Amino acid sequence: MSSSLPASAPGSIAGTAPGSATGAESSSSPLSSSMHGDEVESRTLALLEQLIARPSVTPHDAGCLDLIGDRLQTLGFRLERMDSGPADFRVANLWAVKDGRAGSGPRLVFAGHTDVVPTGELTRWTSDPFVPTVRNGHLFGRGAADMKTSLAAMVVAAEDFVAAHPDHAGSIAFLLTSDEEGPARDGTVVCVERLKQRGERLDFCIVGEPTSVDRLGDTVKNGRRGSLSGKLRVMGIQGHVAYPHLARNPVHQAAPALAALAAMTWDAGNDYFPPTTFQISNVQAGTGAGNVIPGEMVVDFNFRFSTESTPQGLRERVHALLDEHGLDYQLDWTLSGDPFLTPVGSLSAALSAAIAEETGVATELSTTGGTSDGRFIARICPQVVEFGPLNASIHKINEFVPLDQIAPLTRIYRRTLEHLLL
Ligand SMILES: [Zn+2]
Repeated sequence: MSSSLPASAPGSIAGTAPGSATGAESSSSPLSSSMHGDEVESRTLALLEQLIARPSVTPHDAGCLDLIGDRLQTLGFRLERMDSGPADFRVANLWAVKDGRAGSGPRLVFAGHTDVVPTGELTRWTSDPFVPTVRNGHLFGRGAADMKTSLAAMVVAAEDFVAAHPDHAGSIAFLLTSDEEGPARDGTVVCVERLKQRGERLDFCIVGEPTSVDRLGDTVKNGRRGSLSGKLRVMGIQGHVAYPHLARNPVHQAAPALAALAAMTWDAGNDYFPPTTFQISNVQAGTGAGNVIPGEMVVDFNFRFSTESTPQGLRERVHALLDEHGLDYQLDWTLSGDPFLTPVGSLSAALSAAIAEETGVATELSTTGGTSDGRFIARICPQVVEFGPLNASIHKINEFVPLDQIAPLTRIYRRTLEHLLL
């Protein structure tokens, strides 16, 4: 839409190739005359609109992977569906690879999800969430930010890169799933297990999660905290409030222990991670009657933990504190994600350089936010980062992506390929 946008961005010539595996010169300019902002934007936008029009609420893919797969196959990618899960919760997964010139260079993987979260009340949307709609320089639709714009931009970036550099080094891959927003049991984790079993090599992975906060490119995630949940059941003895000596009130017993847990410092974080946090999410006790001491109390809590803590260490400290308070309790734990961390390296350098060249923005590395599929991919890939458009509207009513981020995002992905695979 704005032709003045990216073509005039500073440093539009990618003369250096940070982290280039071959050390070869990269192309003199990734912006050929055919690569105008309008033209790139319209091609990414066209694919994005087709993706948004497919109502792919978890775990349904609604044909998104077929659409993307067709585009990739035309480019020379080998496709492999790795669908998984029971018939009533079937998850669509796609692994696609395109090799460059034989036997050289690293493999860069674009990863992401086609599924979107439910729309919520339709009447609260200004326009149908599955009819992509442009208003005031924004494209509205469920999945616009999380993360169909990234998917479309990755596909178009790969197309442009391959067209400009048919004999590129290394290889490009896509790892896509239709269950990232849901239980995530049959999605990326299944593909990663399979790839691991057959010894597939992954060197770099960019997950297209929407990471930008105020401006496109201001934030790249180079890790995520782990997530550990507990369901605590504190047992008491039910009784009449007028006869407390015949009962044992689990709320009175648990309250000081919960206060101590809430006040505890778990670690101080480190250069990459904020301190580990403990939060209570649900508390239930009582029959609803005003004259009954409850027989038990149930508390749900969650840790978002840094690499300074381990799940085992956190569990031990919680049990020690509960024991100290003399509680009669059961505690069930769920580890929903280990933390992962990609220290500064060739991938973050290439991506940061691409962002700076395209937008002039100095990128900050961050490990805040929820979990993502990066936690699984990090098991088989030494460098995993997440980067995508503005995340202000994700999971909300009237989700959107700013139109003027679509072309720059596409070119940032393409420039990153050029930095790493030429
Ligand atoms: Zn997402």
